[in-house]
Amino acid sequence: MYMDQDFDQLATEPPTAAGRNPEQVLHEVFGYESFRPLQGDIVREVVNGGDALVLMPTGGGKSLCYQVPALVRPGTAIVISPLIALMQDQVAALRELGVRAAFLNSTMDFEQARATEYALATGELDLLYCAPERLIQPRTIELLHNASLSLFAIDEAHCVSQWGHDFRSDYLQLSMLAQEFPGIPRIALTATADERTRKEIAERLSLTKARHFISGFDRPNIQYRITPKTNANKQLLDFIKAEHEGDCGIVYCLSRNKVDATARLLSSKGYTALPYHAGLSAEDRARNQERFLREEGVIVVATIAFGMGIDKPDVRFVAHMDLPKSLEAYYQETGRAGRDGKPSTAWMVYGLQDVIKLRQMLEASQGNDQFKRVERQKLDAMLGLCEVTQCRRQVLLHYFGDNLETPCGNCDTCLNPPETWDGTVAVQKALSCVYRTGQRFGVNYVIDVLRGSENERILQSGHQAITTYGIGQELSANEWKSVFRQLVANGYLRADPEGYGALQLTERCRPLLKGAQAIELRKDPVARNTIGGKSSTSRRSGQNVRDQITDHAGWDALRACRKELADKQGVPPYVIFHDTTLFDMLERRPSTLEELAEVSGVGAAKLEKYGDVFLQALRSINPEA
Ligand code: ADP
Ligand code: ZN
Repeated sequence: MYMDQDFDQLATEPPTAAGRNPEQVLHEVFGYESFRPLQGDIVREVVNGGDALVLMPTGGGKSLCYQVPALVRPGTAIVISPLIALMQDQVAALRELGVRAAFLNSTMDFEQARATEYALATGELDLLYCAPERLIQPRTIELLHNASLSLFAIDEAHCVSQWGHDFRSDYLQLSMLAQEFPGIPRIALTATADERTRKEIAERLSLTKARHFISGFDRPNIQYRITPKTNANKQLLDFIKAEHEGDCGIVYCLSRNKVDATARLLSSKGYTALPYHAGLSAEDRARNQERFLREEGVIVVATIAFGMGIDKPDVRFVAHMDLPKSLEAYYQETGRAGRDGKPSTAWMVYGLQDVIKLRQMLEASQGNDQFKRVERQKLDAMLGLCEVTQCRRQVLLHYFGDNLETPCGNCDTCLNPPETWDGTVAVQKALSCVYRTGQRFGVNYVIDVLRGSENERILQSGHQAITTYGIGQELSANEWKSVFRQLVANGYLRADPEGYGALQLTERCRPLLKGAQAIELRKDPVARNTIGGKSSTSRRSGQNVRDQITDHAGWDALRACRKELADKQGVPPYVIFHDTTLFDMLERRPSTLEELAEVSGVGAAKLEKYGDVFLQALRSINPEA
């Protein structure tokens, strides 16, 4: 981990941005052309001393909303962040930009803490990152009173919400900032907050007068794809091979065993795949996370324990081997892809067994009825997304209260509209077979009866004598599975809560059983592992990143150059330059420092430090320049 804060060097650097306006800071320090929508408004609000509550999706660019004001306003900005690992990388990244940043948290020894406190007191810091438990100590508060402060930024502000999944009790005490430092603007930021949580944040942080800045939830660069499971391992391998060879990604599985098995599978195929789950030792987890951050092309196979605090901008795919429990979880997990705005894929396989398992787990859980009802609604919404025949993004955004007028053109249902078929008769047969066999059997057995199989169990049970025996020969076993999956997903059938997987009719299916209601079913795509490979992935923003690169040797050379610098300094490669910056370099082929300065993400400090090295690398791959 990057730890050395190196104050001797710091103190000799001139104050960074005194007297500059936000646009200048954006351009000179960060090397960016213009603010994104909302960013400019937020920055102006805070620069002018106002409070702000910011809701932006992951990758939306929240950091700049307080980093730029921190460099425009006099004094030190205090950034409260719950994740120590993230803090260290953010500070490292800022220092790369020539910004005077430091952190205070429990990982540092007394001496280091004292040096940082001294730098704060003497006005040598632009930004100080601080863990909440540290901030609320009386000693820290006193330090802050004696320092000149520009603003408070409260990152991951949803941690104050007791209903949320990341509740931190020390966040509650942050409301005292309003009384202790009434003149200092405060900005709270989060990526996950429905309206109720937003209100809660404003109340609990005493931000009742803050202006709210809410940007849409959409992550247009992420392509959403959900495929029925046929052979999950093979599907995963095919997907990675066809579209993400050499890319960095996350594969989520529900159980530790499956994490280990999947990591082994990927490793055996030559990928660098590392497991991550709560059953590993803390050291193993830290090491695997570290490799994921530092090395290129690492795939982490993980339970949901992995991801919180992963700020890596170039995760190119998130794959789900099991169904998440809710759309909130799905959106948060898939949201870890493509923070840099480049095309990325959220890919998932799911099948009948997932549906049955999740429904059973829910019914068997300890919660009271109210709790179960909420959980059931969440699961229904998740399954709904899996089975939709319209644009997935529209469904997803609608769930979060965000409306997308037209289909997105960058999800599987838009790219490959699923066919539907009139399933009225098939469904009637299926439901009636469940009924006739006594609602005591699992799906495979019921399908055997429908297809007139002559296996032992059927012969023994006498079910070849019932009226539904052999009436479903027109569909294959897989097609029947698709029918049953949709029936369970849509709540017409349920698996018995005792856990044996016996299918049972629900109240909802009555009109279907009687044939009084027609039903359209989704036709599962037949054994297509990737969605049309090149032809569809090259459409709109669904493009594979690698497809955009024509000069692979050049790309590799720039990455090698970056990696060498990163290793030398013990920071992740993206702290030197993001992929987006390397892309831009490769496109523009700058041959002078002036031209290089025009590349997005190349600010003054990096130009000075790395300009010559990268120009040389560019010359070596581009001899005619
Ligand atoms: P968030 O914290 O909202 O998830 P970040 O602050 O990490 O997002 O920003 C996501 C990415 O977008 C980063 O790579 C950042 O450098 C880049 N970015 C943010 N604002 C701009 C901008 N105005 N121009 C270009 N890139 C930007
Ligand atoms: Zn779509």
